[in-house]
Amino acid sequence: MKKHNFNAGPSILPQYAIDQTAEAVKNFSGTGLSILEVSHRSKEVDAMNLEAMALFKELLDIPEGYRVLFLGGGASTQFFTIPYNLLETKAAYLVTGAWAKKAAKEAKLFGTMEVVATSEDKNFTYIPKGYSIPEDADYFHITTNNTIFGTEIKYDMDSPVTLVADMSSDIFSRPVDVSKYGLIYGGAQKNLAPAGLTFVIVKEEILGKVSRPMPTMVDYRTHIKSDSMFNTPPVFAIFTALQTMKWLKELGGVAAIQKTNIEKAKHLYDQIDGSKLFVATVPDPEDRSLMNVCFVMKPEYKELEGEFQTFASGKGMVGVKGHRDVGGFRASLYNAMPMESVDALIACMREFEAAH
Ligand SMILES: *Cc1c(COP(=O)(O)O)cnc(C)c1O
Repeated sequence: MKKHNFNAGPSILPQYAIDQTAEAVKNFSGTGLSILEVSHRSKEVDAMNLEAMALFKELLDIPEGYRVLFLGGGASTQFFTIPYNLLETKAAYLVTGAWAKKAAKEAKLFGTMEVVATSEDKNFTYIPKGYSIPEDADYFHITTNNTIFGTEIKYDMDSPVTLVADMSSDIFSRPVDVSKYGLIYGGAQKNLAPAGLTFVIVKEEILGKVSRPMPTMVDYRTHIKSDSMFNTPPVFAIFTALQTMKWLKELGGVAAIQKTNIEKAKHLYDQIDGSKLFVATVPDPEDRSLMNVCFVMKPEYKELEGEFQTFASGKGMVGVKGHRDVGGFRASLYNAMPMESVDALIACMREFEAAH
C-alpha cells in the first residue's frame, strides 16, 4: 500500500533527493567512496558545501552582506546561540507557541527578555496582532511557522530593531524578503533535509556588538570565517539538502512552490471547514499555517478520534496524529508533499464522514 507521509518532522523529502542520496551512499561524486565515509576536507565535499551555500542564497535571493551557515545542534541550540551573539541588554519575543516559548526562556540567561505579545491564553490558536516592538531591544524574535499549533506569519514584517526568525518549518515554502531580517535559522529536518543540519542566514553587520566573551563554537564569526568548516559539518545532511534545493530550483523555485502550497492547504482547510465531524483548531484563515494543518473532531464527535486515527492509518496515512499539546490531528504539507497525498487524505475523511 502506498504510504502518505504527513509527519511533522523529520518529514517527507522529494523522491529525487532520496534517490540521489541513496546513490551517494554507495558512491559519492565518483569518488568510489560512500558519502558516509568521505573526509569533510576532501575537494568533493568542499565543492558540495560551497554549492549548497550558493544555491541556498540563489533560491532565497539572499542579498549581499548576508552569510549562510550549515551547523549542528538543531534549532534548539540557536535558542541560546542567538542571545549569546546579539543580546547586550534586552531582547523582545513574540510567543506564538511551544518553540517560541523555549527560545524566549534561553534569552533570560543573557539579559532582559520582554514578551511583546503571546497567544497562550487561547492555546496558541492565533497570531497576536496590534503589539508594538520596543525600540530599545537588541532584537525582536519571532517564530514564523508554529509547527505544533498550526499558525503561521506568512509575510515579512517591518521591525524597528533587528528581526530574528525561527523558520524551521516554513523555510523554502515561500519567497522571503531576507533584507527585513538580521538572522533567520532553523532545523533542516522539516522541509529540506534529514535531521542533523541547522541552517543560519545572518547579516554580518549585526555581529560583534556584544561585550561578553564567547566560546569559539558559539560565535557565528567562527563559522563565517571557515565557510561552516571550523569543525566537522553534517556532511550527509548537507548532501541531501543540496538535492532538495536542486529539485526545488528545477520546479521553479520558492515562488512556484508557494502556489502549490497555497493550493494544497486550501483543499484541506476547505474540506475541514465544510465537514460535519471535523473542525480546524485555528479559526482565522489569515493565521492558518500552510505547512501544518491542525484539526480536531467537533465536541459532539470527540469519541470518534481514535477510530478515525485507526481508519486513516489503514488507508496508508502516516503521522496524522496531532501533537500531544493540541490533540486531534495534524497533517503536515511540506514542499515535497504531492497534491495526490492531500487528495488521498481528503478522500479518507469523506469516506469516514459518510459512514458516521
Ligand atoms: C522542530 C522545531 C524546532 C526544534 O528543532 P530542533 O532542530 O529539533 O532543535 C524549533 N522550532 C520550530 C519552529 C520547529 O518546528
